[in-house]
Amino acid sequence: MAKELKVVQPSGGGNGDICTYLWACAICDENETCQKDKEGHSRWLVSKRLERIEYTVLVMSNKGGVGKSTVTTNLAVSLALKGWHVGICDMDIHGPNIPKMVGAEGQKLKVSTSGGIIPYQAYNMKIASMSFLLQNSDDPIIWRDAYKYEFINQLLGGVEWQDLNFLLVDLPPGTGNESVTTIDLIGKVSGAVIVTTPQEVALLDSRKSVTFCRDSQVPIIGIVENMSGLDCPHCHKHIEVFRKGGGEASARDMGVPFLGRIPLDPDVVIQSDAGEPYALFNSDTVTAQAFHDIANQVETFCKKSGSLIKVAPRHQH
Ligand code: ADP
Repeated sequence: MAKELKVVQPSGGGNGDICTYLWACAICDENETCQKDKEGHSRWLVSKRLERIEYTVLVMSNKGGVGKSTVTTNLAVSLALKGWHVGICDMDIHGPNIPKMVGAEGQKLKVSTSGGIIPYQAYNMKIASMSFLLQNSDDPIIWRDAYKYEFINQLLGGVEWQDLNFLLVDLPPGTGNESVTTIDLIGKVSGAVIVTTPQEVALLDSRKSVTFCRDSQVPIIGIVENMSGLDCPHCHKHIEVFRKGGGEASARDMGVPFLGRIPLDPDVVIQSDAGEPYALFNSDTVTAQAFHDIANQVETFCKKSGSLIKVAPRHQH
């Protein structure tokens, strides 16, 4: 029987090398003789939990509010619609919005009999988020880095992801410690999708993300231009609210693929707020098609780059 997960916030915050990952022992082959310290355990656990995942894809942006979580959720449902086993790891510690977008707000995760965290299931996807681990998700996150490290560890090394074709990781905005730690712990990342908006200032933002990926040896799948043009539902005119082309110009400028534009669509907000991923509930619209096209490119990129393991899809293509 699964029981309610109680997350204990670390008390010391970086207090030496004592391993506090007690749940690691349950899946460790050498628990009698194990000499690993805290750092060693955390790395071992993450690689153990992720060893049955074919492709790990980061979704990132240099700024908050550009639609990173929206893109993550909709790419995930597009891939799930194609029959793949998909997981979302919401690593956005300061603004964990994925649960709201899949109708799982306020949920708490449970632990299995073997001590791992069972991811939340929604729309044929496995989901784990920082907000599931918080006692009160309205609390602002002001922890020191050591605490954040613990939570990142829990999401990667504590969750029983099991067999997945794709794990999409929604990184926090920017190129700070959380992103560095996440990439470092995952080790081998299949690729990154960089989300930006159409204004010219997006050039500056995307450049930082591209440089960060290059410095971190993360392959870049490409740049997505989100909130790109609005077809007014009233006057039916096409309006370039945030101008146009910033994402494409950034991609050209930095020599990385441009994956496409997603329109600014009021229905995306309505569906996201209702916890119903847009691309799943409106599969035949122009906006949904944009998500599906980008998801196809992500899939093609990952397949080309190759995976170390094979996971059967939920149903044959
Ligand atoms: P981030 O993860 O970058 O902080 P979110 O994905 O949370 O951004 O999106 C911020 C807000 O913008 C949300 O209210 C979301 O519904 C809205 N949004 C995102 N993409 C679109 C879009 N293409 N059209 C309309 N609204 C969007």
